[in-house]
Amino acid sequence: MEDLKSLIREVPDFPKPGILFYDITTLLKDATGWRAVVERMRAHYEASGAEVVAGIEARGFIFAPVLAYALGTGFVPVRKPKKLPAAVSRVEYDLEYGTDALEIHRDAVQPGQKVLIVDDVLATGGTAAAAARLIESLGGTVAGLGFVIELDALKGRGKLNGRTVHALLHY
Ligand code: AMP
Repeated sequence: MEDLKSLIREVPDFPKPGILFYDITTLLKDATGWRAVVERMRAHYEASGAEVVAGIEARGFIFAPVLAYALGTGFVPVRKPKKLPAAVSRVEYDLEYGTDALEIHRDAVQPGQKVLIVDDVLATGGTAAAAARLIESLGGTVAGLGFVIELDALKGRGKLNGRTVHALLHY
């Protein structure tokens, strides 16, 4: 996995002082690295039974649809507020300062459907936990939460309450 880490650019103090930002654009533009990421995620989730892949806006939209295609499932977007045109379910979650929200179309997931949630980075886990709550509010089952990168020190897994979490790379 160290080969993939070498393709991820680490940008200090972005978007604000003290944050070390893991920039995946340098991985995406590398044909071999990009293919390896998708293939490793596909192999990990091949036997998961996932019936649909949900991606979290914005960088989850890069990985989730490609993984859905590779697994032969559909793709569902989990979006920032007021982007989706039809009836939505909404969940609010706490940020360091204030709150944010995510929305999903109410008909995006069927009761009992097994949903794989995908994003680029698992940091504090607030975003992924909100996405999981959204899926479950529609009656879906979270088959797994998949990330390219997990920032272990931030203990995001702890917010995911024992749901199945996997990341390709750990920092
Ligand atoms: P969190 O809710 O704290 O787990 O944050 C997760 C979201 O913020 C993900 O959608 C990431 O894209 C983004 N994110 C958080 N921290 C970083 C970081 N250090 N580098 C890159 N993206 C990050």
